Amino acid sequence: MSASEFDVTVIGAGDVGAAIARELSRFKLRVALIDKGDVGAGTSKANTAILHSGFDCKPGTLEARLVARGHDLLLGYAAEVGIPVEETGALMIAWTAAELARIEEIQASAYACGYTRARPIAIDELYRREPALAHGALGALEIPDEFIVCPWTPPLAYATQAVLAGCTLLRGVEVVGLARAGVDDVPGGHGWSLALSEGTQLTSGWVVNAAGLYSDVVHRLAGRDGFAVTPRRGELIVFDKLARPLVNHILLPIPTGKTKGVLIAPTVFGNVMLGPTADDLDDKTATGSTVAGLERLRSLGSRLMPGLLEHEVTAVYAGLRAATERPDYVLEVDRDARYACAGGIRSTGLTSGMAIAEWVRDALGDAGVELRERDEGLPEITMPNIGEASPRPYMRPEVVALDPAYGEVVCFCERVTHGEIRDALGGVIVPTDLDGLRRRTRALAGRCQGFFCGARVAALLEQVLPAPAGRSEQLGGGSEW
Ligand SMILES: Cc1cc2nc3c(=O)[nH]c(=O)nc-3n(C[C@H](O)[C@H](O)[C@H](O)COP(=O)(O)OP(=O)(O)OC[C@H]3O[C@@H](n4cnc5c(N)ncnc54)[C@H](O)[C@@H]3O)c2cc1C
Repeated sequence: MSASEFDVTVIGAGDVGAAIARELSRFKLRVALIDKGDVGAGTSKANTAILHSGFDCKPGTLEARLVARGHDLLLGYAAEVGIPVEETGALMIAWTAAELARIEEIQASAYACGYTRARPIAIDELYRREPALAHGALGALEIPDEFIVCPWTPPLAYATQAVLAGCTLLRGVEVVGLARAGVDDVPGGHGWSLALSEGTQLTSGWVVNAAGLYSDVVHRLAGRDGFAVTPRRGELIVFDKLARPLVNHILLPIPTGKTKGVLIAPTVFGNVMLGPTADDLDDKTATGSTVAGLERLRSLGSRLMPGLLEHEVTAVYAGLRAATERPDYVLEVDRDARYACAGGIRSTGLTSGMAIAEWVRDALGDAGVELRERDEGLPEITMPNIGEASPRPYMRPEVVALDPAYGEVVCFCERVTHGEIRDALGGVIVPTDLDGLRRRTRALAGRCQGFFCGARVAALLEQVLPAPAGRSEQLGGGSEW
């Protein structure tokens, strides 16, 4: 028997896995977090970025409980570490008599989920609050606790804090095999041997599957069955910042049985988004936008808010929800197998990630994982502000005076400075490609999509790019794999 290298290994560094790794890093445990790509580069990078209140969950589900809890946890955490959030509230709008008739039922369902602040509002109030809305709305429900949040910073914040607390982060490393292994420092002597894509192995007392779209694949690698992930594609259109004054709240449709439907919402980056669609696919890599999907969005958008469609489109993108045949999250802990699954986290995982992490922590504790808190707790961190609701570095003369790099704009569309790019490239979890740099700074995310600054941003990234193989970050470490 060999000694295990880790007590717990989390597979997948999205909203869910990174939050779990952070939560477990509070304790005297050797924690590893492994992702075949970058932190937050799976479904977590391509969502609608709503901090849900949980009002429209299915009452009685674990999802309903964890979304409500996750809302409060992420809101508090955002204030603590500097994740952009705007407390816009939402208005759910009925356009037909049949939809109007459902408002009472939706309010009652929200109550059943424990959310009591939804209330119908009068039509004149709706149009006073959203003057750009198309004519013809028949009624609306206000949900004051639906907020917009930065989609990119949360997983990076969780993983940064975990790494600073001693968690080993392996990026660009895929788990390709899982085998039960005898390990002599695990009570009972059993753990896991993980085969990694580059031909190496590691051992771990416990495995936590947070592999998102691939959580069913990892489940089967662990010798289990019982659910399959069907990618449900959501396509979105991001409109130019000049459209931002048109929209004050998140504007929701009346949901159907299958989807929450297409919404119009401001973003924390100062744009407006329209989407997402919902199409079940069988390809887990189909993150491209489609002509049909975009046409559907434009046609719907022009009926909801004609003025929005007159604005330029900054970007289009698509994300894949990890839908399963189950009506709820797949959250399981098997004490004997030393295996936990946090899979099938469909369309609410940005909100619920921290609450799922609490659930997994408690379930692991109940299953015998010794949870002894580190004396020093989690290290304090401050994430760079990439939202528009509070001042960005270039707006702060005192910051620019101290460090002129914050006054040197590189990406003009998004006003990203050399100082911010430099900080990202020297951070705890450095970007390994342009997409990673975009998610950390907003560089290349604006109107020109990198046409003007792309070469300069790429040159800055190349100065620090490491060897292309898997990377590892750990306390005092940073050794390459
Ligand atoms: C269109 C759309 C809109 C959405 N809107 C919202 C919203 O407004 N609010 C909200 O709260 N939620 C929303 N969601 C849901 C939210 O984005 C997801 O629930 C959440 O991002 C899921 O996170 P995850 O960690 O489970 O998955 P992911 O982010 O996909 O992370 C899983 C990770 O596992 C890694 N991985 C997989 N297999 C392996 C392996 N074998 N070895 C190593 N690594 C592996 C992947 O590389 C990936 O990084 C939306 C989703 C979509 C698609």
